[in-house]
Amino acid sequence: MATSLSTDAFAGWLRDFAAVIHRDAALLNGLDAKIGDADHGTNMDRGMAAVVKALDSTEFDTPDALLKKAGMTLVSTVGGASGPLYGTFFLRFASALQGHSDVGVAGLGQALRAGVEGIVSRGKADLQDKTMYDALAPALEAFDRAAGKGEDVGEALSAAATAAAKGRDDTVPLVARKGRASYLGERSIGHQDPGATSSTLLLESAATTLS
Ligand code: ADP
Ligand code: MG
Repeated sequence: MATSLSTDAFAGWLRDFAAVIHRDAALLNGLDAKIGDADHGTNMDRGMAAVVKALDSTEFDTPDALLKKAGMTLVSTVGGASGPLYGTFFLRFASALQGHSDVGVAGLGQALRAGVEGIVSRGKADLQDKTMYDALAPALEAFDRAAGKGEDVGEALSAAATAAAKGRDDTVPLVARKGRASYLGERSIGHQDPGATSSTLLLESAATTLS
């Protein structure tokens, strides 16, 4: 069955992601403590709590208005590297949805791609730099592969989430080459990247809420 994603569906995604981030904030801080400054969970929790507050106080008529607000809120409330990166993801995601009243699997794939390209243009990460991009890039590929086979939004997102989790796990042996963790050089080996971990949560949340 063709799915058309509503503004409410995207709001549900953001609320669920906020709840998951709140639940796992200590875990994300713990991962960041190993290769950074122990604040990734706190940063994301602060940002997503502000997003939920914005959702509670404003009516959004379209998915792009809602997601643009989420992006702006993350940029303005999160001090760490992850704020501008996640903020840019949602801003570019929103722009890609603009003018599309009927968001299905193709539109969602384009929006995800635009969001991830925004992260790359902002943070200049390459594959295997041990960042969130190492979870997001394989997720995009898996989404497109599933969509190309005619799978629906739920199936494509579930494939994306599985690929993200593998990409996240594959960050463990890598040497960090971007962000704070890169200061550690070889000592970053053996630790899972916090941003790749939260990005996997974002896609797992999408798979449960947008299908
Ligand atoms: P900070 O490093 O400023 O304390 P956070 O701890 O909130 O910010 O976020 C760290 C995460 O941000 C890293 O685990 C990594 O995934 C991601 N990150 C850092 N720099 C980049 C970059 N240039 N491109 C993509 N992701 C990055
Ligand atoms: Mg940090």
